[in-house]
Amino acid sequence: MEVTLDSPIQFVPRVGPRMASLLAKVGVKTVYDLMTYVPFRYKDYSLVSPIARLQPGETVTVVGELEYIRTFITKNGKRLVMARLRDESGAIDITWFNQLYLTKILSAGDTLSVSGNVGWFGQKKVLSSPEYEVLHSAGENKDSLHTGRLVPVYPETNGLSSKWLRGRIAFVLEQYLSLIQDPIPEYIRVSHHLPDIQHAIQTIHFPDTLEHAALARERLAFDELFMLMLQSQQQKRWWKQSLKAHALRISKNQLNEFVSRLPFTLTPDQLTAVSDIISDLASPTPMNRLLEGDVGAGKTVVAAAGMFAAFLNQQNSALLAPTQILAEQHANTLRLILEDTFHIHIHLILGGSKKTPPPPKTSIPAIYVGTHALLSKASELPDFGFIVIDEQQRFGVAQRGALRNQTKERVVPHQLSMTATPIPRTIAQTAFGNIDISVLHTLPKGRVPIKTWVVPTSKRNAAYEWIKKELSNTHSQAFVICPLINESETLTTVKAATSEFVTLKKIFSPLTVDLLHGRMKADEKTEALTRMHDQKTDILVSTPVVEVGIDIPEATIMVIEAAERFGLSQLHQLRGRVGRREKPSYCLLFTENETPEIINRLKALETVHNGPELAELDLKLRGPGELFGTRQHGVAGFAIATLSDTELVARVKQTVNDLTNQDPSLSQFPYLRERLQGSKIDTIQS
Ligand code: ADP
Ligand code: MG
Repeated sequence: MEVTLDSPIQFVPRVGPRMASLLAKVGVKTVYDLMTYVPFRYKDYSLVSPIARLQPGETVTVVGELEYIRTFITKNGKRLVMARLRDESGAIDITWFNQLYLTKILSAGDTLSVSGNVGWFGQKKVLSSPEYEVLHSAGENKDSLHTGRLVPVYPETNGLSSKWLRGRIAFVLEQYLSLIQDPIPEYIRVSHHLPDIQHAIQTIHFPDTLEHAALARERLAFDELFMLMLQSQQQKRWWKQSLKAHALRISKNQLNEFVSRLPFTLTPDQLTAVSDIISDLASPTPMNRLLEGDVGAGKTVVAAAGMFAAFLNQQNSALLAPTQILAEQHANTLRLILEDTFHIHIHLILGGSKKTPPPPKTSIPAIYVGTHALLSKASELPDFGFIVIDEQQRFGVAQRGALRNQTKERVVPHQLSMTATPIPRTIAQTAFGNIDISVLHTLPKGRVPIKTWVVPTSKRNAAYEWIKKELSNTHSQAFVICPLINESETLTTVKAATSEFVTLKKIFSPLTVDLLHGRMKADEKTEALTRMHDQKTDILVSTPVVEVGIDIPEATIMVIEAAERFGLSQLHQLRGRVGRREKPSYCLLFTENETPEIINRLKALETVHNGPELAELDLKLRGPGELFGTRQHGVAGFAIATLSDTELVARVKQTVNDLTNQDPSLSQFPYLRERLQGSKIDTIQS
């Protein structure tokens, strides 16, 4: 059988089904995947030294003849392999632990190249557990893989060692590297001084110098970003060409009426976002826009403008919220803005015990607000002209697809996603390249920044005293958020909140303390929040379920336990639960961790009150996975590129824009087009 780059990896000699399944776990399925499975660092074994000159502490390579090799039992009964290697200058002992099989592979008289650290064994110099390889002709170790050079170290999993990978990668490079065609058009390679793809792939595995390795890595990072950005642009193009939506037009006067009847004045950013949306909606090309703004920035009213436009065009709208509480809150807001003023019906669709039969289909357009229940009811609901998805990262792509129109293929609703998670520029340019973005940078006037302190253990009691006084004096309320153990609410998280609740009840008596966590029934959660909202509760102890959007106007103190477990963005979102009115508000970040880096990271919240800036910091300090969760492919999924390399991201973006402006269908670059179609890169929004 002829092996190609796309051949399953198990057909490569000495791979086989067992290793293939291990490789599959790290995402390597084809010959090409293996070739591009990049090392994350190198061991420098390039210093080759005569044995007599070895110094303890050095990392070196020596070449010599094996004098003997045998198993040895130490005083405390451990078995190890001992050997002695000799060159013209002298001899050195070698020990290997846990590798008794070596006595079967190696024998006296073999010429070995051996790399490792020189140490002491009692009074004698020794090489302990070095890498080795057998040379077939003495002095000739130019083609070595494991010794005598910069040696690649790969991300390993159980059963998949760097040594094994090196051998197989060297083999596939030798056999199939010449099959790789360069996907990047030559004029781009030339203008960016990129090394040739075959050279880059060879070099990233087996570089002569670290500088060469860095150049190769840059080339492959360029490719990765280039392909992702180009793919998302092509997707957007496809979306524009092949899908249709109802054009939803609204006149200037109608829009003015909507704006002037709001109970407040829109901020300049809100006005800009409204006009972005209104102009998208007026086109028969479906909108795919993300509205990003800090908690409290006023996203709902911006979305409502779009719903109003839909209504005027005889179209239904839907708003999908991640929790029942939020769905109810949105419904209340929309009732105020659209039902009371313009008599547009708002239907709330919930699951669980709040389940209601879906409203009868009528010809009068309405607004449907709901949780997941809205998705499962989709077939009983009318078609939508406009859908809004709040905190979109909580919904999968497939689920969102459920709100596509039932009746007309290829006519889809305009879609607006809303998120309080700020999207760093580099991520916006790459993974979100197929989406238009509107940002609310500023909060509505009158909000004061939330005074934030990092509180060490020694000040905990004083902090409790202060909170007690503050709550009693100002009749305001507090949240205490208990640690996030994992990404989702685990039993441990719930336990932490429950036991904290018991402790705090005692400490804060006679104030009323209540409990909220993700394992409670939806009704119980709503009741706890209603008590909080109605000021029957003074202190609500909660798991991070309150993270998203809840509006408790009188809450002024946010306490976060084990704050170091959260990303800065998340902490910022939690802090946004207070300070909803003009009263001074406070955020106390408790941590028992005294590590300076951790304290400094948290202290950023004391001075920075801007979500996007904190997100950029998060990206630098903890990587993109922290921002979006590892489930988001295409964000955390880069093997080589790092999104904190803003210079490279900007450069590739410019290159991709120039290319698609000049040749939108890539007709001059058939191989590139083919590669894009075959690629399985998964972007966030499809
Ligand atoms: P978020 O962006 O977090 O979803 P909301 O849409 O829930 O924010 O708005 C938060 C609060 O601010 C709501 O009570 C809303 O009515 C109010 N609000 C929105 N825009 C303005 C504005 N321009 N001026 C004053 N209050 C506003
Ligand atoms: Mg909101």
